[in-house]
Amino acid sequence: MRFDLLTIFPDFFTSPFRYGILSRAIAVGQVEIATHDLRSFTHDRHRTVDDRPFGGGEGMVLKPEPIFDAVATLNIAPKERRDPTQETVILLSAQGRPFTQAIAQDLSTLKRIVMICGRYEGVDERVNDLLCDREISIGDYVLSGGELAAAIIVDAVVRVLPGALGNPDSSRFESFGEVDIPENRDPALGPPRSTHGSGGLLDYPHYTRPAEFRGMAVPEALSSGNHELVRRWRRRMSLEKTKRNRPDLLAKAHLTREDQEILRKFEAQNSFEE
Ligand code: SAM
Repeated sequence: MRFDLLTIFPDFFTSPFRYGILSRAIAVGQVEIATHDLRSFTHDRHRTVDDRPFGGGEGMVLKPEPIFDAVATLNIAPKERRDPTQETVILLSAQGRPFTQAIAQDLSTLKRIVMICGRYEGVDERVNDLLCDREISIGDYVLSGGELAAAIIVDAVVRVLPGALGNPDSSRFESFGEVDIPENRDPALGPPRSTHGSGGLLDYPHYTRPAEFRGMAVPEALSSGNHELVRRWRRRMSLEKTKRNRPDLLAKAHLTREDQEILRKFEAQNSFEE
């Protein structure tokens, strides 16, 4: 898989990809990341990439020409002939569709991802209309540039690539993970070690040694050695945390009768405490 990142600050990306899973994926050739300096595609003495907005208003806007010229060097099909199962061009934008784990999974199946990082007031809209397949936002806040957003998307996509994580279950049974255990799961993998997460919920809390720290002991269920107790505790924690922090996820999750009972108790207890 190859990423091409178009930016006016290519040096921005020198460090985010040098660590952990990403650096390993690059080292073994599973992932290639190229940055392209938009100023190299300007033709004036000042290497101008921006201009004033038509209609007036604050700030400057990234001009379309350097971006079109940069994309033209990438050997990527024009928008109308692009194969969406192979390659995509993304505009990073606060006005885009929210980035999710499902989109990360979807992007991880492609061979080529081009990302255009905006700056200033944003990018001339013709770039979006004529070059881009998707406009993606990483959250409901405004960053000063698309570079951080691009780095976040690279990270989230690479860690779900087959083989990027030592244990493939790690990316299935974590927050926002698969709703169901797939029927075609490779039997050679054995049963998943974390059978209790996450089914579209948030992950459950994790603990490691020491068993007691600053007067707080690890929850008894986890050190009980009883798999069923562990399963039930983790599922309850996952449900309660989701209810508390992201109740919107519960609407999409597959909840068993046991889950619904846990949530009913949690709600009753909380309304009593209030
Ligand atoms: N005027 C724009 C607006 O109100 O939507 C904000 C422009 S922002 C200061 C400059 C650039 O940062 C954008 O063109 C985009 O590339 C990037 N950016 C800002 N917020 C973002 C977000 N939430 N997700 C992805 N990219 C973002």
